[in-house]
Amino acid sequence: MENKAAGVSIPAVNRIAILALLLAAASSAGAQPATIAPGDGFEVERYAVALRPDLATTAVSGTETIGVRGTSDRVAQLSFTGNALRITEATVDATPVQVSSSKDAIVFTLPRSLRKGDKATLRFRIDGKPARGVTSVAGGIYTSYFACDWMVCLQDAPGDKAHLALDLFLPVGTDSVGVGRAGPTTRLSNAMVLHRWRSSRPYSSYLYAFAAGQFTRQAARTGLGELVYLDGTTSKADLARLFAQTPELVAFLADKAGMALPDRRYVQLLVPGREAQESAGFSLIGEAELDRERDNPSSAWIIAHEMAHQWWGNLVSCATWQDFWLNEGIATFMVAAWKQHSSGEAAYRQELDVARRRLERVRETGFDKPLAWAGKYPSLSARRAVQYSKGALFLAHLRESIGDAAFWAALRGFTRQHAGGTVTSKDFQNAMEKASKRDLSPMFAEWVYGG
Ligand SMILES: [Zn+2]
Repeated sequence: MENKAAGVSIPAVNRIAILALLLAAASSAGAQPATIAPGDGFEVERYAVALRPDLATTAVSGTETIGVRGTSDRVAQLSFTGNALRITEATVDATPVQVSSSKDAIVFTLPRSLRKGDKATLRFRIDGKPARGVTSVAGGIYTSYFACDWMVCLQDAPGDKAHLALDLFLPVGTDSVGVGRAGPTTRLSNAMVLHRWRSSRPYSSYLYAFAAGQFTRQAARTGLGELVYLDGTTSKADLARLFAQTPELVAFLADKAGMALPDRRYVQLLVPGREAQESAGFSLIGEAELDRERDNPSSAWIIAHEMAHQWWGNLVSCATWQDFWLNEGIATFMVAAWKQHSSGEAAYRQELDVARRRLERVRETGFDKPLAWAGKYPSLSARRAVQYSKGALFLAHLRESIGDAAFWAALRGFTRQHAGGTVTSKDFQNAMEKASKRDLSPMFAEWVYGG
């Protein structure tokens, strides 16, 4: 991803401190326990959403089921990311529950506390117009990044990966893209069609997405999987030409990951503007960004960067935003590696020079942080200079230090070992040390953890 606000949430450590203060204040005042932060005390195992999106207005209505498991004792409330939807008819294990909703949190107050390991199933209806994350295009809509605006989920808990079953009720003649695999569609009596999408593994909530509309479609079945190109613009784009590098790029990234394309399927949806966003199984590719790249081919990045996230970010995911550099640094580095493979050494060096200049620019303002810094970034460009650019430069530095054979073996080992799971900087260090048979702690202290 490029333009979104990931990582600006309050870090977990601060959340705990704030929670402690709130609880202390509440108990001293003899008040009810303070509202807990989204995700505290439980983890989600699965979401199931049956949604009827209005393609004209971007409003949504439907039902949602969330299967949760307690991760601590005496969990009296289940709190999720706030959104602008109306939540009604909420039950937990078929008993009605109170729900309070604000822009900060949606809180379900349980009739009986959960203990660690207890499971519970929430069910409720949702309707309303999402405040963010749903965009109209010609003949349809797409969602991007802010999944917890059109469903109830945990936007800032990338480590709480869960399954998603998404049923979309769409007018006859509408194409859809969702998370994971598509099941058979069912024609309903009211000129609607039920589209069923099922994740084949758990994903972080911010990767839940769908698109629905009358899109021009091209698809190719290759030895690497099914590659689909959709046009959500009005410009009648030459999809085969725009996405011509896709098969070779999939082969290159799968080789570097040591793993096939997840689900052996990848969809790229061309949309207007500068959109650049990966989801589980598909990416949004902004037409304006591709136009810019056509005029300046050496600066191309979007197709390779977003595709790289199918492995690094989506399959192997940072446990918290503190280690977001693992998602973005690796994706940014893989653009340089792809250019080295497809265009030669000079192209690799040039891409790293771009990263170096971005980092230099922010350093000139007096700002520089280790990659796993947990603080709040002063700006999006400062965050990107560290987590994207410095992350990529660190990978290039590691590669040079331990050599190609150990570096790529480490990346493959890291990807395979943690596929479907979550990672921290320490996991990445372990993989690099194992493959290189070297103690890399001084290098990681300097670049990643800080003095
Ligand atoms: Zn990215």
